[in-house]
Amino acid sequence: MSEELNPFKIAQKQFDEAAEMLGLDNAMRELLRWPRREYKFTIPVRMDDGSTKVFHGYRVQYNDARGPNKGGLRWHPEETIDTVRALAAWMTWKTAVVDIPLGGGKGGVTCDPKKLSDGEKERLARGWVRMIARELGEHRDVPAPDVYTTPQIMAWMMDEFEAIVGRSHPAVITGKPLPLGGSQGRNDATARGGVYTVREACKVLNVDPHGTYAVQGFGNAGQYAALLHNEVLGGGRLVAVSDTSGGIHVQDGMDPQDIVDHKLKTGKVTGFPGSKSISNEELLELDVNVLYPSALENVIHSRNADNIKARICCELANGPTTPEADDILYRNGVHVIPDFLANAGGVTVSYFEQVQGTYNYYWTLEKIHRDLDDKMTAAYHSVLEMQRDMKVQPRMAAYLVSVARVAEAVKLRGWV
Ligand code: NAD
Repeated sequence: MSEELNPFKIAQKQFDEAAEMLGLDNAMRELLRWPRREYKFTIPVRMDDGSTKVFHGYRVQYNDARGPNKGGLRWHPEETIDTVRALAAWMTWKTAVVDIPLGGGKGGVTCDPKKLSDGEKERLARGWVRMIARELGEHRDVPAPDVYTTPQIMAWMMDEFEAIVGRSHPAVITGKPLPLGGSQGRNDATARGGVYTVREACKVLNVDPHGTYAVQGFGNAGQYAALLHNEVLGGGRLVAVSDTSGGIHVQDGMDPQDIVDHKLKTGKVTGFPGSKSISNEELLELDVNVLYPSALENVIHSRNADNIKARICCELANGPTTPEADDILYRNGVHVIPDFLANAGGVTVSYFEQVQGTYNYYWTLEKIHRDLDDKMTAAYHSVLEMQRDMKVQPRMAAYLVSVARVAEAVKLRGWV
């Protein structure tokens, strides 16, 4: 892997720029540009055919100055320690930008879950917990689902942890199924949080909240964004959506629920009755009020950034915009709501789940929505204020808010 593509090098470079602007001293910089602790372990798993396979597992605790480490578990064939380190760093900045009292962590296993049976997955989940249980707990480190890990896997992990410590511990892990202490409102939390920030941006920029919007990627984040944009903003005209099958366009607008139903029936968005075909690239360049990139990284780059006409670009996906494109969008007046702010709703409701688990109590859906709205709205405005004060692009403004908060906590603890 070349140096530029190493996600941890990228995370460190982004941090270095923020540290420079904030004038952090050398000791603070050295502390915050590395994880505080990392664990690498092997997990022997008895396979269905009677053989034993040894998997490689990780947990990185990036920084816990503001509270216990928090972050998901990725099961992926290309999982490496550097991916985990980068994701743990970004979690640290994400929990800080929404100002929840948590640090950042991440973990994973190098494996291909599509090739594992349910029984093998369960033994792998329990094996991962056995290797790291002494480091977990609601006051230490709280894992959650990420790519290819599910509520069922979280349930097995919680059960294993409780078996080891010998008592109930629902807050040790989030993203659990509802009957085992999962939270209301977690399914759509990422998109809902993003839509709340769009509502605020419309007010600030005087953009018509009932105008046009387009969604690239129609999975968990994208489908909920399509539905919730109308619900939260009280209207709006969805003119285009896309997935791996291609895109669809109707200038007069489409009912998001009809597209969800069509995708459920056919497995794709293309072929939606009355729609025109459009490519993913064309969708990004539509003249809309709000664009939600909700699929993959690096889809807005130096070659198409000048063609982006959206007034607001709400990055539900992680890393959809390259650094070069960021500069172009900023110059052209496109208002970017950067990924670790725009998609922070998921970890915020995970935090609510952790609090409910600690109290052994359930909150109502109304309370979850209200509290999520408060957190996302405050985060959006603190980033906007920083952007205006420091005259930087939104992504750097989000870094400045987060890094300053973590550095302040480190200082108050007297670590450096
Ligand atoms: P998902 O797998 O449910 O959906 C991804 C969607 O993108 C699918 O509809 C897929 O068809 C589509 N897609 C893939 N390649 C595409 C392409 N080239 N062009 C257009 N569409 C394409 O995933 P998700 O959970 O919705 O995650 C989407 C993004 O949001 C990822 O970057 C993820 O890291 C980020 N995110 C998700 C959450 C969450 O809670 N789901 C939280 C934070 C960040």
